[in-house]
Amino acid sequence: MECIFCRIVKGQAPARIVYEDETVMAFEDLHPQAPVHLLVIPRRHLPSLSEATAEDEPLLGRLLAVAARLAQERQLAGRGYRTVINNGAGAGQSVFHLHVHLLGGRLFHWPPG
Ligand code: 5GP
Ligand code: ZN
Repeated sequence: MECIFCRIVKGQAPARIVYEDETVMAFEDLHPQAPVHLLVIPRRHLPSLSEATAEDEPLLGRLLAVAARLAQERQLAGRGYRTVINNGAGAGQSVFHLHVHLLGGRLFHWPPG
């Protein structure tokens, strides 16, 4: 089976898409862990952060910039919000298509679990 996020990019699987451009897409997480829980992904399949190369540096910046803009649009910045990239199964990565979690609308603790 093809990667679920690639299927969402191609319109072959449903998602509540909140942003898209030529390189990135953002949609609501299926199992939200906060009142706002969005995933920002590259359109191109890149399995994880550790597989990104020097050529991907503009893309990595773009993912964070889009996350920050979506947070701003949702008035999350005042209370604080969290961006997370889980890298590898041991860190909780379950979908092997790079994604930045954007979580907001509640308090967050540190260190994370
Ligand atoms: P990870 O555990 O890899 O950091 O995060 C994967 C995230 O993708 C999880 O928060 C999970 O709820 C979400 N997810 C998994 N499958 C789907 C799906 O088909 N659609 C959407 N919108 N989110 C998904
Ligand atoms: Zn993919």
